[in-house]
Amino acid sequence: MTFNNRQSTRNFPSLVGTVFCSVWLMTVGGWCGSVRANAPGDVRTEYHPGRILIQARPGVRGESLASLHGTRKVKVLISIRGQGALQLVPLEPGESVPVAIKRYEESGWVVFAEPDYARHLALTPNDPKYTEGTLWGLNNYGQGGGTPDADIDAPEAWDIRTSASNIVVAVLDTGIRRTHEDLAANVWTNSTLGGFGWNALAGTTSPADDEGHGSLVSGVLGAVGNNGKGVTGVAWSVQIMAGKCFNSQRLGYDSDIIVCIDFARTNGAKVINASLGAYAYSQSLSNAIFEARQAGIIFVASSGNDGNDIDANPYYPAGFDIDNIVSVGFTTRDDTADPRSNYGARNVDLMAPGTSMYSTFFAADNSYLGGSFLYGSSLAAPYVTGAFALALAKFPGETHQQIIQRVLGGVDRFPSLSGKCVTGGRLNLRNALSAPILLSPLAATGVHPFHFRVSSSPNRSCIVESSPDLATWTPVFTNTTAGDGTFDYADTDSGGALRRFYRGVSAQ
Ligand code: CA
Ligand code: CA
Repeated sequence: MTFNNRQSTRNFPSLVGTVFCSVWLMTVGGWCGSVRANAPGDVRTEYHPGRILIQARPGVRGESLASLHGTRKVKVLISIRGQGALQLVPLEPGESVPVAIKRYEESGWVVFAEPDYARHLALTPNDPKYTEGTLWGLNNYGQGGGTPDADIDAPEAWDIRTSASNIVVAVLDTGIRRTHEDLAANVWTNSTLGGFGWNALAGTTSPADDEGHGSLVSGVLGAVGNNGKGVTGVAWSVQIMAGKCFNSQRLGYDSDIIVCIDFARTNGAKVINASLGAYAYSQSLSNAIFEARQAGIIFVASSGNDGNDIDANPYYPAGFDIDNIVSVGFTTRDDTADPRSNYGARNVDLMAPGTSMYSTFFAADNSYLGGSFLYGSSLAAPYVTGAFALALAKFPGETHQQIIQRVLGGVDRFPSLSGKCVTGGRLNLRNALSAPILLSPLAATGVHPFHFRVSSSPNRSCIVESSPDLATWTPVFTNTTAGDGTFDYADTDSGGALRRFYRGVSAQ
């Protein structure tokens, strides 16, 4: 499913007002009816550039194919007799894989000709705190008394992508321990001024961490993955630019925060993590974030940890109404909103894991910190920031709004989070990096007026949900997409309803 954007999700009434459509299909926040032009599938199409696989038709004599190979001046690399007459054949010099496939298909002598596709091993990082299960928010199998799968589906997502090494993420915080064994390789360096970010308190390019918060946040979004040490970030590799605007007492002022936002904006950051806030509106802070928005930068803000409804008691920057701000509350290992997390059906966008955290610490190069005492939206926000870094790396042509749609549209929704945030859901990294689930109308079939096609990536298990009012959703059908990424569905139980809403969600 997909969101149009934050604004449209806040404008449901105008959609509901359109009552003349007989079939009400939707993806949350937007009408279906056309497949998004910007929705590339996530199917891997990497293949060997110098060879293809062909299988001879039954009855085609070996000499016939051999003569074709001879005409093409190529020799069979491997023949696999147990699989019919499967052959691996090289390309002619200068020939492309599609052209070679076409030539064999046009010969009439093959059942098929196809690329020699690359496959990948499922990726599991070897970082000990991940392997031990300490990082439950990435992969929850019930350790620590939690609910299995109350997590962001990181291992499934890492089959799709682990690296955001070309993406610069600015962390507005207390700084970073640049030499930490599990951060050093992912710390951005300034090729012109030197240093690794900006220290607004000292006016230098050395934002060293003297408190710890910034190093903890940095490790959640981008500790070095699969290096055999410590933890792994949501992104295994990324460029973390530290913007030190908080002192060793965890106190920071808007002036310093704004200087760091401007530094990030003018030095190539694509995402800004702001695990900070206050119940005070600031025009200058709003303006700085709006300028970042004009530069296409996504701004991730924590919702705060006071158990407050921040629609009623606005908390900023989470509460600014700017479409590049994504605000994040925090959930427990049971996928409930932690009662300490601020919430808001309008001013919090989504939730992410944030209790019993464990991450890189500033005290030494091999220092880590974690346990039940370490919780908060400060540590949930970098989950979302890491997801944005990976999504930006995977979908480089998309705008900040499109990338935000992917992440917000991919959440796992739960009744307990409904009304607590815009999406009513918790971050799911796999969905953020996968093709969205789209619905498009088909002609009515007989007595069943609600008939449509569900489209996503191939072999994806999808649930169709229906609603009479956009508020209450009921699963009505579960199916797995075919090789073309689709299945069709006619609602045989619509009970003569004149209108009904539908959406597709990922089966978990
Ligand atoms: Ca999972
Ligand atoms: Ca590591």
